[in-house]
Amino acid sequence: MVEQTLVLIKPDGLKKSLTGNILTRLSETKLEIVAAKITRVTRELAQEHYSHMKDKPFFEELIRYIRGELHQRRKVMAMVYWGEDAINKVRQLAGLTNPEEADPVSIRGAYGRITTKGVYENVIHTSRDKGEAEREIKLWFKPEEIIVDLYPTKTIEVNKTKQKVWT
Ligand code: UDP
Ligand code: MG
Repeated sequence: MVEQTLVLIKPDGLKKSLTGNILTRLSETKLEIVAAKITRVTRELAQEHYSHMKDKPFFEELIRYIRGELHQRRKVMAMVYWGEDAINKVRQLAGLTNPEEADPVSIRGAYGRITTKGVYENVIHTSRDKGEAEREIKLWFKPEEIIVDLYPTKTIEVNKTKQKVWT
């Protein structure tokens, strides 16, 4: 089944200069990248992205981690990968959540670590299933930032909005 999945290269991946390595590994899947950007992560976006973790004792540390506060890299690289069995293919390559349990040749197994505070710094995020992929892609991207039509859209008229343009 043709699917789409959200991939984030987390701040530790950026700080460790792993962007190229990670993209090379992901290219083994032969999936297509249909959206990509470097973006800052607001507190609201981070909390929404990890809303399923909000009762965990490490939630606040997780928010600091994804916002780049632990790595002095206040950004992530966000992408949408698209193609046959995209969710499982990327999840397989990423490896298990805990980098110590992840297959050593998976991305997380090769590059991840556990901090002394107990957070798994696993360099990459990827959606777990179709529902999570839809929720996350809609959270991180606007329809016009994705070059294929993944989900239904509507056009609305927005008045009096401000927009930054080149001078
Ligand atoms: N995490 C952690 N400790 C845990 C579980 C999760 O530090 O015991 C972090 C880890 O960075 C993980 C993120 O929280 O990637 C989100 O957790 P989730 O269970 O959604 O794992 P994922 O989908 O990223 O494999
Ligand atoms: Mg998850």
